[in-house]
Amino acid sequence: MFENQNSRTELNALGEFGLIRYIRDQVQLKNKSSLQGIGDDAAVIFHGDEHLVITTDMLVEGVHFDLSYTPLKHLGYKSVVVNLSDVCAMNAFPKQITVSIAISNRFSLDAVEELYSGILQACEFYNVDLVGGDTTTSPSGLVISITAIGAAPKEKIVYRNAAKLNDLICVTGDLGAAYMGLQILEREKRVFLENPSAQPDLGAADYLLERQLKPEARLDIIRNFESSGIQPNAMIDISDGLASEIMHLCKESGMGCQVYEEKIPVDHLTRETAREFGLDPTVCALNGGEDYELLFTIPLALYDQIKDRTEFSIIGHITDANAGYTFVDRQNNVHELKAQGWDAFHQRS
Ligand code: ADP
Ligand code: MG
Repeated sequence: MFENQNSRTELNALGEFGLIRYIRDQVQLKNKSSLQGIGDDAAVIFHGDEHLVITTDMLVEGVHFDLSYTPLKHLGYKSVVVNLSDVCAMNAFPKQITVSIAISNRFSLDAVEELYSGILQACEFYNVDLVGGDTTTSPSGLVISITAIGAAPKEKIVYRNAAKLNDLICVTGDLGAAYMGLQILEREKRVFLENPSAQPDLGAADYLLERQLKPEARLDIIRNFESSGIQPNAMIDISDGLASEIMHLCKESGMGCQVYEEKIPVDHLTRETAREFGLDPTVCALNGGEDYELLFTIPLALYDQIKDRTEFSIIGHITDANAGYTFVDRQNNVHELKAQGWDAFHQRS
């Protein structure tokens, strides 16, 4: 691939998922203890009666966060949460993290303290230990890479690839709010750059800003599954947007889906703010991303047990692969579900 300039493949043509598939195809697992390698929310390692799950996420200044409106403490907290969310998406309990940072001398010790106060607050809240990491210099921007380790009894681990025909598709919390929070922060940044004396107009958007700046991992749901004996067939967390994650889960499971617009949970503030920005609230929920809610499927037979739950919504069901990925709007028109979620090589403007 290095000799012939003509055969050069551009990364943005391949896309993030294409690149990960390319890497996955080169890898063959050699150790029996490596139960699940590349391709799910976390790797799964055999560890006696329990399995370990391991996941890593890297956050890069200017790509994943903008320090002009992201307090370092929030950034530290969020960096931990995005990893814990992947552990939860395996139906496992987070136990340890390692934190690696590349930092330039543009930052002071105070800044590092702020970042770590957020990291440690998340560790406290989620009962996780910070057990190591690495520190190096960066020529300009800040890079944070966190690895999280979790554990669960082996029969409890939930993969992306085991959704079954007629399963109910469920999602926790509400969607699209983090994206609207980002739109508000970006708008106020533009106003500030044009007129530095302008006061930010954050309105009554606290909820939206919190969803963007200080998301939470749904460990409460994992605990709830444990105490109520609910075992999802398949699960994934929503980092890139509902549509993208549903399609991921269905693709890995070799299934199709039918999702109903009227069932998708969207907070009223998200709805109002989306309309203010001239955006369709459903599109924000489908493609917005960074919600860190859990998307899971459960057998239809559990319907009576879960139908009155308020922590999650039933938004559709799993179909045969031949039926494709379908989306039924409020007028009962059937569309093909399309994903325009976050892709590392196609940055949002
Ligand atoms: P998530 O959005 O849940 O964090 P990703 O889309 O980042 O998941 O990753 C999907 C899978 O690909 C995971 O198993 C992850 O460990 C693996 N993966 C991502 N990037 C790489 C890489 N550069 N090398 C090896 N595996 C990777
Ligand atoms: Mg994930």
